[in-house]
Order: sequence, then structure tokens, then C-alpha cells
Amino acid sequence: MALIVHKYGGTSLGTPEKIKNIAKKLKGLKEKGNQLVVIVSAMGHTTDELIDLMNKVSANPDNREYDMLISTGEQVSASLLAMALIDLGCSAVSLTGGQAGVVTEDIYKKARIKHIHLDRLKNELKAGKVVVITGFQGIDSKGDIITIGRGGSDTSAVAVAAALQADVCDIYTDVDGVYTTDPRIVSDARKIKYISYEEMLELASLGAQVLHPRSIECASIYNMVIHLRSSTKDITGTYIMSPQQIAKEVGKMEKQEAVRGIALDENIAKVGVLKIADKPGIAAKLFGALAAEKINVDMIVQSVHSAGSLADMAFTVERTELRKAVQVAEKVGKELKSEAVISDSDVCKVSLVGIGMVSQPGTAAKMFEVLSQEKINIQMIATSEIKISCVIKKEQGKKAVQILHKAFGLEKVS
Ligand code: ADP
Ligand code: ASP
Ligand code: MG
Repeated sequence: MALIVHKYGGTSLGTPEKIKNIAKKLKGLKEKGNQLVVIVSAMGHTTDELIDLMNKVSANPDNREYDMLISTGEQVSASLLAMALIDLGCSAVSLTGGQAGVVTEDIYKKARIKHIHLDRLKNELKAGKVVVITGFQGIDSKGDIITIGRGGSDTSAVAVAAALQADVCDIYTDVDGVYTTDPRIVSDARKIKYISYEEMLELASLGAQVLHPRSIECASIYNMVIHLRSSTKDITGTYIMSPQQIAKEVGKMEKQEAVRGIALDENIAKVGVLKIADKPGIAAKLFGALAAEKINVDMIVQSVHSAGSLADMAFTVERTELRKAVQVAEKVGKELKSEAVISDSDVCKVSLVGIGMVSQPGTAAKMFEVLSQEKINIQMIATSEIKISCVIKKEQGKKAVQILHKAFGLEKVS
């Protein structure tokens, strides 16, 4: 008997038929004597549709009401899946995040999970029920419904699996694993069998939407192996685990490839604060003001004008935060006597990720060379030991991913 946690994403729950099929599969697992906890996302594109609806009603939606609204999608799928199970004669109960004991920070829209009170969950399991929990939500100290950031059901699943010390944490989705890049962009992208938490966290943070970055953070803290796999095909997917566990599975002592995967983030925008006095404190003032507004800044480039006394400061933010970021930059820009604040949402970020990069010099140079051969202009660059990111024009993003995937031979690596 095992304690199994499954998570099903929106597409996997997109139709009544799909929900009934999942119920059948779960019943089979239950009959083998396993204990089952299932975390669900909202059906299909429900969350996007709720946001569209919200924008038709309110120009400046209140944060608390935003969470009240967009958490409802998960409630629909959780109750439907529980009903489908009960119809099959399989005892089941659906629980909201709050009912399941998921307690979050007191921050609307993107709270972190603080802890999970397991009493209710354990009692339901003891009573022999399949427990279906709404992903993407919890409650705060006031008892308000709080959501944990778009795509957050993955994190709900890993947090529940970690809290329960589950034997299995399977995340079911519409692809059959993590690929070297988004298979919708590169048709011969290759499925990766094992990937380390560190590499997967980079790929996800840099735009590969296949897993919510915080789910990987949580899995690595609790050493919970994630198996990301297809909800329609019963085949092995990708195991996300520690390098030590991978070494055991693969039996290779040293890793060779410099690049494991490529991510594309089309959800970014660039802001430039032009011609400000180049003196100590300007960066602190600008980025301090952005941080005070809780705006996440990603890449930052400061360039100095030839005269030496003036500088331009450019940075990227999530596209949804552009308006707020420009407002802050204009306010601070005025104080710093900036000549102008410009913004550009016609950009994207292409990133190479791989632990092997650190021991293989020349990866960045090769990336820049490949992009230049296609006449793709690089606007910003950021590097770390395991990633290289370039901001380029949005319309060139997919092409850049395709030529880089080929140039680094990612379709061939095994
Ligand atoms: P779910 O609704 O199950 O949470 P998502 O749409 O959030 O699913 O994530 C799955 C999608 O992620 C896939 O359909 C795929 O197009 C995309 N994706 C992006 N990068 C990758 C990658 N490297 N490997 C696999 N899928 C990826
Ligand atoms: N339904 C939520 C979203 O679309 C959460 C999730 O799917 O993980 O963002
Ligand atoms: Mg997702």
C-alpha cells in the first residue's frame, strides 16, 4: 500500500469525459489498496475566462475579490471529480484549500504556503476516501481565500505530498514529460528522463511553463521526487530529483552536456530610465522604489554615456506589471532628472540552462554567434553558473529557440 498524490492540470480535466476517465483510473489504484490524494486545477481555460470576465466588470479589480473569483475554477473540478468517483462506487470527498488545512501568507494573489494542518486530510484518508483538493489556493490568518500565483496547483500538489510524506507525487499534464524545450516550438525536442531540481527550477523560472517554479523549490527542500507525466498515455515521464538520486539511476559519475534545455519567456517587458546622473545611490533609489511596490525586477543593465557623467538604466519585469513599473520609474526618474522613461513590451527572453555549462567555457560565445548569424539583435544579457539569458525582439523568440536547439544538438543528446 502506498500513499499517492496526483495532480491533474487544466487540459487534463478539460471535458466531462476526461474527468470520468481520471475517476476510473483512480478507482483502479484505490482498489489496489493505495491511499489517494488528488490535487486539481480548474477545467481547461477556466481561470483565463474568469479573468476576462473580471476585466469586463472592473477596471481596477480589488485583490481580495480577485482571489475569491479565480479560486472558484478549482472548486468546480474538485467537486466534479469527487462526484465521478462516488458514481463509480469509490468513496471520495472534495475539499477546498482551506478545508484541507492549507494555510498561506496574508498576501492576496501570490501568497506562499506556510503550512498544512493535516488532521482533516488524515481523517478522510483513514475513513477510506479518495481526497480531492482544489489546487492553487489556501486560506490566510483571517480565513480569507488566497491564491498562490498562476500555475500554482503544481506547488499545492508538492506541498501536500511533502506534508504527508507521500510515497509518490505524480503531476499529470498534456505533455508526456519535460522536454529539452517546449515541444510546441521545436517538434524534435527530446524528452528528458531525469532532471535535477536545480536545472528544472531554472528552466521553469525562465519561462518553461510546464511546472510552477515554486513546486520545484518545495520538492527540493523536502527531497520529494516529482514524476511529470502524461494524463492520457500510461508511460514513464520525467523524474525531477536530486543529482545524487539521478547519479544512482543513470550510473554516470560526470555529466557532459553543457546545455540541458532552452526556455522562452514571452511574458516580459523592458523599461528604460534614460540619462540620469551617474552617481552612487541611483540604482538603490530606483530599485528600492520598485521593490516597495512589490514589483519583481529581473534583468538589469546600466550603460554609461560617453561623457561619463550620465547613465541609462534598463530592466525587465513581468508584462502584467509593466504599467505599475513605468509609473514608479517615471516618479523616480523625475527626482533623478532623467531625460525620459521608455518601455517596450515587444521583447522576450531566451535562456540556455545546464549545470554542465560551468565546466565548459564557450557556451555563451556560441549562443551569441548563433543568434548573430540569424541577424537577431541581443538587447540584454544575464548569466549565472548554470544559465545564459538574452532579451531579444519578441517576434524572433521562437526562431531563436529553434536555431539554438539545433546548434547545441539537443535533439540528439541522450
Ligand atoms: P497544466 O495545465 O497541466 O498545468 P501547462 O499548460 O501549465 O499544463 O504546462 C504544460 C505545457 O508546458 C505543455 O503543453 C508545453 O507546451 C509547455 N512547455 C513549455 N516548456 C516545456 C518543456 N521544456 N517541456 C515540456 N513542456 C513544456
Ligand atoms: N488554475 C490556475 C491557473 O490557471 C492554477 C493552475 O492551473 O495551476 O493559473
Ligand atoms: Mg501548469
